[in-house]
Amino acid sequence: MSAPRLFFLLGFPVGHSLSPAMFAAAFAAAGVDARYTALAVPPASFAERFARLREAGVEGFNLTLPHKQAVIPLLDGLDPLAARVGAVNTVMVRGGKAVGHNTDVAGFLRGLAAAGAPSPAGADALVLGAGGAARAVLAALAGAGAARVTIANRGEGRAAELAAWARGEFPGTGFVPAPLAAGQLPAGAAEARLCVQATSLGLRAHDPLPLDPALLPPGCFLYDLVYAPGGTAVVRAALALGRPAADGREMLLGQAAEGFTLWFGSPAPDEAMRGELKRVLG
Ligand code: NDP
Repeated sequence: MSAPRLFFLLGFPVGHSLSPAMFAAAFAAAGVDARYTALAVPPASFAERFARLREAGVEGFNLTLPHKQAVIPLLDGLDPLAARVGAVNTVMVRGGKAVGHNTDVAGFLRGLAAAGAPSPAGADALVLGAGGAARAVLAALAGAGAARVTIANRGEGRAAELAAWARGEFPGTGFVPAPLAAGQLPAGAAEARLCVQATSLGLRAHDPLPLDPALLPPGCFLYDLVYAPGGTAVVRAALALGRPAADGREMLLGQAAEGFTLWFGSPAPDEAMRGELKRVLG
């Protein structure tokens, strides 16, 4: 009998991750003999641990905070999209070579479509947050043809840096930085058809809302990257106001399904993965 194929999620922390349950469901549904393990690895030991796992024959990795950039110098190659975004969330090891990919971009677009959000093509969008996840969102919105994206962040300098980067990478879309302050719609977002919540707020029950959804333009779809059992607080607040909104579970599913296809060369069993997410998140 051959040994199971090995896959790892490396992050710090990873205890909250739903990926192991989702991949276990996927492996069972697809009938593949594989194991997916989440491992908390502090930044100081990341390079050594990554090398040891590669030597042990691990075939694929997912990376989450804070390793999505740190992994890049340890790889033998980068997919062009991952190089453009500057972040890797999925690694495929084949023939001794580890190549980095970014499936957050496609996962985000799949998540948007599955949630029933309007197409970003030709639209104004508002992105809350300017961290690593926001970079993938900007790449996705630009790739989908968004006309203008307002990037609102608590730290305004970071929003300005991200907007400058995005303008250079994606000249077909306008990017405007703005401060994210309580009680007001970020300047320039009055026409936004889509609001993407990409701050880390909402992970903890006592977090404040990143933005009062009542401030959003009428009909603006709120897509929260964060997910939580029963939906995040901001999504629940939006839905209570009759606003269209969804949390990030479909993006989580989408990026994992894209990773499955890279690793196994076949479509992912989406329904089995979605069923597992539904079982855990309600
Ligand atoms: P980062 O740590 O890189 O960025 C965090 C962002 O949140 C920054 O813009 C930061 O603003 C902002 N922020 C943090 N605390 C506050 C606060 N108290 N008030 C206002 N803004 C705040 O994280 P990532 O970009 O990697 O991830 C963001 C979230 O996206 C994560 O929580 C994760 O759950 C989710 N995510 C979901 C995915 C999915 O598949 N559904 C995939 C990837 C991410 P500042 O710059 O001012 O500090």
